[in-house]
Amino acid sequence: MLTIFLDRDGVINENRSDYVKSWGEFCFLAGSKEAIAMLTNAGHRIIVCTNQAGVARGHLSLETVEEIHRRMVAEIAQAGGIIERVYYCPHGKDENCSCRKPRPGMLLRSRDELGIDMNDALFIGDSISDIQAALAAGVHPILVLTGLGMEHLREHYQEADGPFHIAESLKNTAEIILQGDLLACPTSCGRTFARALLTSPPSLTITRQVQAKALPSLHCQRLPVSKSAILRSI
Ligand SMILES: [Mg+2]
Ligand SMILES: [Zn+2]
Repeated sequence: MLTIFLDRDGVINENRSDYVKSWGEFCFLAGSKEAIAMLTNAGHRIIVCTNQAGVARGHLSLETVEEIHRRMVAEIAQAGGIIERVYYCPHGKDENCSCRKPRPGMLLRSRDELGIDMNDALFIGDSISDIQAALAAGVHPILVLTGLGMEHLREHYQEADGPFHIAESLKNTAEIILQGDLLACPTSCGRTFARALLTSPPSLTITRQVQAKALPSLHCQRLPVSKSAILRSI
């Protein structure tokens, strides 16, 4: 069993540059509810950690953020997925809090409150700050190319101070996790999962140099699913 931390905007639902300010503006990404249901059915724990600076900027109230999360969790539950907890940071960039990603505060709080073994945990996000938070908390980072993911891979990947995995979407990641479990061992744990990722065929591995070359093509074209099954960047 893994613990799977999820970023919200750009992973579960569509990103909005002007913040998701109401439930009416919350739009699930294709396949995300299904992916969470698949992971739930496979026995994994799922926890959301999201920055919501729109609160600090006065675009929405705490009550509204919590209402959005209640409805999100309920709709995912209807699809068969369980979100165990939603952590959010309501602070602005300049407030210097410990919870706003790239800081690992939400992940560490979750570890302490829910008793999570970080060796068997991963974080799926669409932004380099998600990758940085994951690395700081000691969980496996996965960058998805939905939301801001493509742009962040292209323009900010060097800001990550450690290796991270790349997958096309939450749905794609869920498929890989389930395959990895099956390939590794029936009782699966984070380490076997990580090993399954790290032993992907060399053609699926990209180094920084190769990545730099590949980036222009990533710009205008989605990776074919078969090839992007998992890419390891170093
Ligand atoms: Mg995001
Ligand atoms: Zn915060």
